[in-house]
Amino acid sequence: MDGMYGVVLCSRCRKAMGADLRNETASCQCGNVLKLKEMKKFFESTDQREVASAVARMNAELEGGTEEWEALAEESAKPDVDDPYSRMVSEASTLTDSQERMELVVRGLTDIQGSFTRDDLQKALRMLGVKEVDKCLELMLRESIIYEPETGVFRAV
Ligand SMILES: [Zn+2]
Repeated sequence: MDGMYGVVLCSRCRKAMGADLRNETASCQCGNVLKLKEMKKFFESTDQREVASAVARMNAELEGGTEEWEALAEESAKPDVDDPYSRMVSEASTLTDSQERMELVVRGLTDIQGSFTRDDLQKALRMLGVKEVDKCLELMLRESIIYEPETGVFRAV
């Protein structure tokens, strides 16, 4: 969903506007100059028309109230479901049991790539907010959830 056009929210008049993200700044119709790099992008696309309709939709929702606005912000923070990696992570994030979650992640990585490295696992775990990659590897090796066919290469059992 990365694109060169994005939807940002003006900090002064609280209106959504479309901006060409190749530019450093954008001027809102209220006169406020927005520093694009520092701003949250609520929608991104290479298609200017899609961005324009996202702006219209957002401004309509903004007038509707903050609750809808929050829901919309949440929506845009969800991972891209076309990416198998993100899909696997978002599936795993719905599980509350951490062992089940780990198993789903390592099985997902094995399905997607055949095997995985510490870096691959770190990437997936980071998306889930888990920092202790080495501890996870150690534990999963010990519990025979994964095995290490070659040094530094892991597979789900
Ligand atoms: Zn403005």
